[in-house]
Amino acid sequence: MAKVKVLEDTGNYVSLQLDGVDRSYANAVRRFCLSEVPSMAIDDVVILENSSVLYDEILAHRLGMVPIRTDLERYILPEACDCGSPLGCHKCRVLFVLDAKGKDKVSTVHSGDLVSEDREIRPVSEAIPLVKLAQGQSVKLEAYARLGRGKEHAKWQPSSVSVLTDGKSEGSFILSVESAGGLPAKKIVLKAIQLLEEKLKEMQVSIEAAAK
Ligand SMILES: [Zn+2]
Repeated sequence: MAKVKVLEDTGNYVSLQLDGVDRSYANAVRRFCLSEVPSMAIDDVVILENSSVLYDEILAHRLGMVPIRTDLERYILPEACDCGSPLGCHKCRVLFVLDAKGKDKVSTVHSGDLVSEDREIRPVSEAIPLVKLAQGQSVKLEAYARLGRGKEHAKWQPSSVSVLTDGKSEGSFILSVESAGGLPAKKIVLKAIQLLEEKLKEMQVSIEAAAK
């Protein structure tokens, strides 16, 4: 029987002792924590105005790397959504608006200046610098955040660290996961296990169908 013991759980970091599981299973869970569990990141950016020193593409790239709080219950992956709209709908994307003007001194625009249409889906930190504006310079844009997977792009990786080490006895492993901030670390592990189980189930069904 597989047993799981929580060794440490600080919200953003979790350390679990897995007993009686196969190494390959434990390793698959570890990998799913990085590449399969979806998280939210800014994807499309529509720049309406940019007189800052940063090129549009660099600004868009910076926005993409801002960790965003994720809700896997209310949002679905764009490919799983039935809206078929390239810009998405209220089930598969969240709109952020940024409207910033340089004041008399050089000022810094931060992640906290992004205004989200959904109060729950916002940057994990408000203090990430995005761009500096001199007097008279301005940035005005719309940014669309979507769920995605780490295997598509690192910006969608829900965890910054996911490592597996040997436990004290045979068939015992320690899985340590640190969240990038969008989801609690424990939630990432639970979701990884759920997705892995679903994948195994799919495999079972297709093998059974092929055997008929
Ligand atoms: Zn949609």
